[in-house]
Amino acid sequence: MSRSFLVDTTLCTACRGCQVACKQWHDLPAENTVNRGSYQNPADLSFDTYKLVRMREEVVDGKLRWLFFPDQCRHCLEPPCQDTAGEPSAIFTNASTGAVIYTANTIDLNAAEIRESCPYDIPRKTEDGTLAKCDMCNDRVENGLEPACVKVCPTGAMNFGDRKDIMELAQKHLVVAQKKFPKSALLDPENVRVIYLVGFEPNLYHDFAVASTTGNGITRQAALRRMFRPLTSLVSHLG
Ligand code: SF4
Ligand code: SF4
Ligand code: SF4
Repeated sequence: MSRSFLVDTTLCTACRGCQVACKQWHDLPAENTVNRGSYQNPADLSFDTYKLVRMREEVVDGKLRWLFFPDQCRHCLEPPCQDTAGEPSAIFTNASTGAVIYTANTIDLNAAEIRESCPYDIPRKTEDGTLAKCDMCNDRVENGLEPACVKVCPTGAMNFGDRKDIMELAQKHLVVAQKKFPKSALLDPENVRVIYLVGFEPNLYHDFAVASTTGNGITRQAALRRMFRPLTSLVSHLG
């Protein structure tokens, strides 16, 4: 059955349990980092980091806000990365869950082109050119378990389930969030399986919080045209 996530950032405390659980489940190593004057660590997604809790300090309406954004692949309903690859042995969508899966055959793809095609700037490559990203913990999901990042989240920020149920849950969370944060919005809910709820302007959290052309690449812009026909709004306000 088609699955989806709701990531309610208004409930996220940046404990980073999800980030660590993702590494544990996929047996991914820690990364060498330096103090960059931020609690965010590491600085960006990588071949070894599929989930990253992004942190920004922003002044919004005269108040200092600490904004948290647990970033990961959105598992797009019509994945531009998959279209660009055009090679099902390298990138394909799992028919039962909707997970967009990368295999070792991504080594034969143009890594820069695939990354550029992603409107959320997700895929990363290792030195040998293989691409990697969040796989929805598809092995867990197909065996009746929640993704590791959802299982470990202590606040209810991470939610997972059948798409219809998650869409309903997203609207309920939105109504609650809007009472405290009037500008709350769901990000690209009709186009992705990982639906973020934010309390403030999405680009305050992350440059690629909503589908973006920031990469200036023709491929990414072509991907956007495919994803949003007609392109009426990048942010959908529901409720
Ligand atoms: Fe936020 Fe939940 Fe991740 Fe902790 S586990 S950082 S509360 S999303
Ligand atoms: Fe592909 Fe990017 Fe969509 Fe993930 S978010 S499915 S990497 S286009
Ligand atoms: Fe990592 Fe699995 Fe969560 Fe994706 S679904 S971010 S692979 S723990």
